[in-house]
Amino acid sequence: MTILLFLFIASTICSFLLALADRLTEKRPLWTKRSYCFACGHQLSPFELIPFFSALASRLRCRHCQQPFEKPLPFFFFEFLCPLLFTLLFLRSDPFSLNTFLGFLLFFLAREDARQYGAHTDLCWPFVGYQVLTYNWSAFSIANGLLLILVSFFILRKQMGGGDLAVLILAFFSFSAKDFLLVFFLAASLAFCFGLVISKRAPLPFLPFLLLAWLLIQLLHT
Ligand SMILES: [Zn+2]
Repeated sequence: MTILLFLFIASTICSFLLALADRLTEKRPLWTKRSYCFACGHQLSPFELIPFFSALASRLRCRHCQQPFEKPLPFFFFEFLCPLLFTLLFLRSDPFSLNTFLGFLLFFLAREDARQYGAHTDLCWPFVGYQVLTYNWSAFSIANGLLLILVSFFILRKQMGGGDLAVLILAFFSFSAKDFLLVFFLAASLAFCFGLVISKRAPLPFLPFLLLAWLLIQLLHT
């Protein structure tokens, strides 16, 4: 019963954040009305608002105009895999912890990045400030500092998106140095493999891979 409740909560939060990110990237008003089809404006019925299942039942198309509103891969990632990982996090750690909240923030940014190759990553800076103030500085070493400089170097050399810097610094101060390395290299490896197998030439948004690595490493330690 607890699992179903947590799954419902995680899916609802994810669904709300997806609607918000999609409206932002489409430059549509944020709060005017309930979810609607971007193609024909048809307002979704309560049944169509049920996360995951309603979209699956309509085969990812609007019931009114039959226009597809989502591709299978992003649908699987954002509406199935991520809510499932958040549910596991809810079950195994404190659902109200800052790290869970940051996971949802990253989810929102990852969706923006997936849709427009850019995100409002400036939202991370206040949390970076908080994490810096509460960071266990006794555990900080020269190796940690060099690691941060190395990652920043890759970003400033434009081998990664400039907006990724805020998220990576946030990750640096949210994990131990070892776990940060794991998050970074897991995200980079997943992006590399995905690029090789599926998206051979198209540019890749990095934040969805960082989100997946962030959630997996967080789960590993709970
Ligand atoms: Zn429609």
